[in-house]
Amino acid sequence: MRYSKMFMPTRREDPADAEIASHKLLIKAGFIRQVARGIYTLLPLGQRSVRRIERIVREEMDKAGAQELLMPAIQPAELWKESNRWNEYGPELMRFQDRKQSDFCLGPTHEEVITDILRNDVTSYKQLPINLYQIQSKFRDEIRPRFGLMRGREFIMKDAYSFDVDIEGANKSYDIMYKAYEAIFDRFGFEYRAVEADSGNIGGSRSHEFQVLAETGEDEIVSCQSCDYAANVEKAEIQIAKSEIKNEVEAGTLEEVYTPKMKTIAEVSTFLERKPEDFVKTLIYLAGEQFIAVLVRGDHNANELKLKNLLKSDGMDTTEFRMANDVEVGKMTKAPVGFAGPVGLKMPIYADLSVAPMANFIVGANKKDTHFLNVNFERDVEISEFADLREAKGGDACGKCGGVLESFRGIEVGHIFYLGTKYSAAMKARVQNKEGESCPLEMGCYGIGITRILAAVVEQNHDEKGIMWPMAIAPFQVMIQPLQMKNEDVVSTAETIYKALKDAGIDALLDDRNQGAGTKFKDFELIGIPLRVTIGARGLAEGKIEYKKRTDEAFEMIPLDGIVEHVICDIKSFKLNT
Ligand code: ATP
Ligand code: MG
Repeated sequence: MRYSKMFMPTRREDPADAEIASHKLLIKAGFIRQVARGIYTLLPLGQRSVRRIERIVREEMDKAGAQELLMPAIQPAELWKESNRWNEYGPELMRFQDRKQSDFCLGPTHEEVITDILRNDVTSYKQLPINLYQIQSKFRDEIRPRFGLMRGREFIMKDAYSFDVDIEGANKSYDIMYKAYEAIFDRFGFEYRAVEADSGNIGGSRSHEFQVLAETGEDEIVSCQSCDYAANVEKAEIQIAKSEIKNEVEAGTLEEVYTPKMKTIAEVSTFLERKPEDFVKTLIYLAGEQFIAVLVRGDHNANELKLKNLLKSDGMDTTEFRMANDVEVGKMTKAPVGFAGPVGLKMPIYADLSVAPMANFIVGANKKDTHFLNVNFERDVEISEFADLREAKGGDACGKCGGVLESFRGIEVGHIFYLGTKYSAAMKARVQNKEGESCPLEMGCYGIGITRILAAVVEQNHDEKGIMWPMAIAPFQVMIQPLQMKNEDVVSTAETIYKALKDAGIDALLDDRNQGAGTKFKDFELIGIPLRVTIGARGLAEGKIEYKKRTDEAFEMIPLDGIVEHVICDIKSFKLNT
């Protein structure tokens, strides 16, 4: 491809609204353009890289025995009503009506459609196992679309669905996908972890997220330094001693303190000059019809999954379980959000084990702009139950082996999930097993965020000058730069090298623009093509060509008659590595 013919508009200025490197660089280097919030065009460079990502995903999925199909993005409400997700999914589901006022949605995921396909055409265990996948645009009206391709409202996903006759088969299908995902993410050159994840409403199921390690990741994960345990903090189990010990501190007098407009622990702790660890946070949830409060230390976060499981085991209805909204908090505490506290609060109060030994702590006073100092259990607060209710963090003891957990930020690029019979039971997708009995299909689903991967790759592979694409995903493998476009020798040498590389099946980009060396180098660095071959009049006079890898500081001078061979050899060795 010739640079002069290719639509690849680069920009020198940082886009105003971009916060993270991948968002900035994908715009500056001419890979994407925003159309609306969370909705992007993939420009030719972006599309080339996305195609490469898709190709690797396809190869590994096919190798794992999955078959590609393509379902429609438009889905009828009827199917979603059968699974009850028409009600459950909430405002993230993009709904619309056709001209006859029939309800439809734009697919955020395809469990209903695929289950419908299977129930009509699969009747016997002999037709199983089946694993079907597609690569397609998905639609989710995210509450906070951000970071460019990272969290879009329209994005490309690979989604696969496995069907088996029994749990044993479903576990096998799951393991095959787990391995395929490792192969895929290895080929992208990611530094990543497969972590145990919350499996939502389906109790006891298996679920793993594939998390690319990056400071800018939206997820927090922990991994054990001693064993192989790794989990999203939403799920991570930790070991905490059930200590009943109270600090041997004498209880101070309960005291109100004026904290004007201080709603967060950070604000109040700075204002009162006390550590966040001296505070107890009060969070209010609604379980079914019942409000409950949970107390965690000021520097901790509550783990909703643990809380929900505890409430369930106490016999509470948790089919609806969520944080109370501002209005509800106001009604229950008689104070605006930010000033809730356990003293005098009329609802069951659960507390995390870490707050049990605390004394003379600080809480909201259920009164505007007011906190309490010197709060103590028994005298001031009655607790229904102390339990492990907080999110894991770095330094905690591993729930599996007691080793030390290390914490990372992660970008979720893949998610695999054992679904069981959630959809097949609701939608009556049944087959006959070996014994001739009719049973619901055992399902698994497996997602990969194709466009999110493009962003995640940039997060892990860039410097202050631009992107550094791994060979496997680069839009072009090598850039050929004639430096003096008026020098016939330079131009014809560049053309010869370009043609030889193209003939060898290599994706080469010839920078045939009438631009100075500075601009050509800057664009090469910004766009992030892995290799450059630079033809300058001075080197050529000595029969030498300048050759540089994007990831190296220094360049080499290579004899003209060996340059094509050299480039091909380097690209092949990259291939062997991926
Ligand atoms: P998240 O927790 O990030 O919202 P999710 O759990 O909703 O992700 P899944 O439903 O498991 O995601 O979707 C499969 C994959 O699709 C995710 O692992 C992620 O890589 C990608 N993905 C999900 N939502 C988005 C989005 N809004 N923009 C881009 N990619 C996304
Ligand atoms: Mg989501």
